[in-house]
Amino acid sequence: RARTAWGGGDSWGSAAAGDKEKVTIVIKFDQPGLGLKIHDGTYSGFDVDVATYVAEQLGYAPDKIEWKEAVSAQRENLIDNNQVDYIVATYSITDERTKRVDFAGPYLVTGQSLLVQANNTDITSKDSLAGKILCSVKGSTPAQKIKDEFPTVQLQEYPNYSACVEALKSSKVAAVTTDEVILAGYAAQSPGAFKLVGGTFSEENYGIGLKKGDTELLTKINDALTKMEADGAWAAAFEKNLGPAGIETPAPPAIAATN
Ligand code: GLU
Repeated sequence: RARTAWGGGDSWGSAAAGDKEKVTIVIKFDQPGLGLKIHDGTYSGFDVDVATYVAEQLGYAPDKIEWKEAVSAQRENLIDNNQVDYIVATYSITDERTKRVDFAGPYLVTGQSLLVQANNTDITSKDSLAGKILCSVKGSTPAQKIKDEFPTVQLQEYPNYSACVEALKSSKVAAVTTDEVILAGYAAQSPGAFKLVGGTFSEENYGIGLKKGDTELLTKINDALTKMEADGAWAAAFEKNLGPAGIETPAPPAIAATN
């Protein structure tokens, strides 16, 4: 049996075997519709619901979940350092990340887009970004794409997206760029303040990140996702969390391990 050591004092046991006292799951705390910590200490969002469903399938009731926040740039390190069992945090599957992390899923497909102030008229798509000040997040795929493909953009990299949205609100940046589902969540939170423009210009496949080589856990998480998609819980969670942001519930993606 694999030893899963993490900071919670329950260092023996494995999440796959369901014999730990608690399962430790990383989510975002500041992304409405996906992973959000609410003032009363509860959590909401599509990632939270997916993570909770998977935990239940692994043998952990909701009260046996320990939620941990990670900003985008910390995710690989948390897995490397055995500090968490799995990550459900708008985490795109990429070749680079797969060197350090195995991914179950994908459980959601989205793409990079742009959020601007509602009255903005000069940014209409990725083709009108020359010279503009954009905000994205350190360690994210959208920030990397801007650096690789949009050399004239003045990119500001913040630790998290809610800080970018604050900067947009106060006109410190002209646009925020990240995945469309994330931006739609912020737009819905501040009605009338922002708009999404330009459609999507990348494909982001969200996976559940876990320790490289833990094939037992990978298989069990994929089985749980397959079940969630088949029994209607996936569509219900999508509709509940992302419907209010105006996103139509799509057909669920086909599950296939990336390791
Ligand atoms: N899905 C992208 C990524 O994994 C952007 C969202 C995020 O930073 O969490 O980097």
